[in-house]
Amino acid sequence: MTDVTINICQPGHGASCALCCGSHHPESAFLREAGRSGFPLRPPGVADGMQCSCIGYLDAGKKTIGCLVYASERPPRVESLFRTTCTHFSCRAREVLSGAEILFAAQLMRDWYYYALLVNSIDLLRELTARYRTTCDVPREVLEGVRASLEARALVGD
Ligand code: SF4
Ligand code: SF4
Repeated sequence: MTDVTINICQPGHGASCALCCGSHHPESAFLREAGRSGFPLRPPGVADGMQCSCIGYLDAGKKTIGCLVYASERPPRVESLFRTTCTHFSCRAREVLSGAEILFAAQLMRDWYYYALLVNSIDLLRELTARYRTTCDVPREVLEGVRASLEARALVGD
């Protein structure tokens, strides 16, 4: 269903996602650097405790994150990594969201933390796209409420 021209993991607009690789794992270096807590609820299809060390920032400004291996040349020796690690998850958001829905989430959040959570909270995202024609129509207080809701799901009480 997803438009082939839109990469849900790297949709642009400052948004990116590496949730299934472990970006929001409680032990994630990204979360520690950002001063955030981890994501206790595994998104569908994610292997237990997935926390891949290949996640990294893809830009000098440390804005977008993703797979450092995919972002570089792929030497043959990493083929086993892809076979044994990356194939252990699937992504329902990637299967069911439309390009318009992905873009809405990207343009609303414009980061790696909240975008990843929102794009994997399909019901919440679809509530927003049903209520608002564009992200410009989303009132500030509603956006703050969405962030708080996503934060509440991400808290691990550490
Ligand atoms: S959870 Fe889905 S959208 Fe996020 S990085 Fe994985 S495949 Fe991409
Ligand atoms: S190697 Fe696989 S699991 Fe690790 S960051 Fe890259 S895509 Fe994600």
